[in-house]
Amino acid sequence: MELTLFNSLTRRAEPFTPVHEGEARVYTCGPTVYNYPHIGNMRAYVFADVLGRTLSYKGYKLTHVINITDVGHLTDDADDGEDKMERMAAAQKQSIWDIAEHYKQAYWADVRALNIRQPAQWTVATDYVPQMIAFAEGIAAKHCYELDSGLYFDVSTVADYGRLARAQTDDGEGRIEAVEGKRNAADFAIWRKTPPGEKRQMEWDSPWGKGAPGWHLECSVMSGAVLGFPFDIHTGGIDHREIHHPNEIAQNQAHCCTNGLDDAANSGAKVWMHNNFLVERSGKMSKSSGEFLRLQLLIDKGYHPLAYRLLCLQAHYRSELEFSWEGLGAALTRLKRLVMAVERLKNAAKDSAKSDGGTTWTEKWLETFDLAIADDLNTSTALVTAEQLIDHKKIPAADRIRALEDFDSVLGLDLLNLTRADLRIRPKSAEITEAEIEATLAARKEARAAKDFARSDALRDELAAKGVEVMDGDPLGWEWKLG
Ligand code: AMP
Ligand code: ZN
Repeated sequence: MELTLFNSLTRRAEPFTPVHEGEARVYTCGPTVYNYPHIGNMRAYVFADVLGRTLSYKGYKLTHVINITDVGHLTDDADDGEDKMERMAAAQKQSIWDIAEHYKQAYWADVRALNIRQPAQWTVATDYVPQMIAFAEGIAAKHCYELDSGLYFDVSTVADYGRLARAQTDDGEGRIEAVEGKRNAADFAIWRKTPPGEKRQMEWDSPWGKGAPGWHLECSVMSGAVLGFPFDIHTGGIDHREIHHPNEIAQNQAHCCTNGLDDAANSGAKVWMHNNFLVERSGKMSKSSGEFLRLQLLIDKGYHPLAYRLLCLQAHYRSELEFSWEGLGAALTRLKRLVMAVERLKNAAKDSAKSDGGTTWTEKWLETFDLAIADDLNTSTALVTAEQLIDHKKIPAADRIRALEDFDSVLGLDLLNLTRADLRIRPKSAEITEAEIEATLAARKEARAAKDFARSDALRDELAAKGVEVMDGDPLGWEWKLG
């Protein structure tokens, strides 16, 4: 089945046609490492991961790049306000480098926990500053002007600025013009000068004086440097469709034209893809709220991180997804059911051990799965297909497992390795250890076998007092759960 992907540039689903035959080159806007990512941010990387896995599944040689922004991202995407990294470093009384390292590691921990595959390359912005200066020098004469505060990109110098956002160049949306001397409200800094008499922790010499690169410049430079213009797909969250990506496109256009790729519509990447937001009503996703929703909070409350991945896969990446604890609980139950079904399937495969060598039955399931995933990554239908296949008793268990392995290479739920025990995460607040629970349950089993029901009940009460609910006869096969 031909892979079709929704291109935000054209607002249409289009067949994927790679720039380089047999290859897929993808750039994903990565995190600004000034704080922990919230689970909404992680939805953007789960989406990019599913995209990458799908491209691999469809046989393309994938080169995926994700950047780490450790400089230059201001508190306002339209290039106003303070540098997010500098502000956090000052608040925590640490160096920017330490802040960047700490939050980069925290982000990578979430990436691993969500079974997001490692990209071919993580590009770190501060490693590319000389290339950023060279890029800016290349487009400065034709497309930029200098103010006291920095070098600005004049958006009126490129054709059709803002076509990605469907925005007007004259900025009918009323973006605040905070910098005196800007020619157009949408103009943005590609180099920010250090104010006279100040010293920044991160600053570099440039033809425009000491300073730091603008955030939009970073992504243009890193994507072009590693993947080459034009490359195939650029991804990010839907908010980037409004400012960050239109600005990247304007720079790419300027750069490509100057460098002989003389096509006014050249956007750097052929396809721009955006995931919609994870939303939450109480505002806990805001990083400024005390206990915001980060993956570790979910784990601390006893939810396996892959339940969150499943929650993401249940929705289409282009629709908004509302987070709730009930929804996460339901996703965990669904994951448990899947894991138990796979365990049964594995046992059945051991018993029969016979495959009928890739029956047409299996082929049909692979086709159904392919149809879903090739249709702009319809993961919710793909999931149902996986569940139906597991239950399809007519197909030999070994063949079902083989097909499931294929499916999971896209879904990334680790279905063939996860065990029920893995899914049982002890909430941080619980004081009893798993070993203690298991030992007490074993003693209770012995008591029941010896028909000593008084002792059995006492042990059950003992566990209840420590917050452990014993689940005799649970249809999901769980022996206990922490309240
Ligand atoms: P940032 O670190 O702020 O640059 O954000 C990292 C990624 O998360 C970007 O691709 C954002 O567009 C995306 N993002 C931010 N908030 C959400 C959200 N609530 N749901 C989904 N994606 C988000
Ligand atoms: Zn970016």
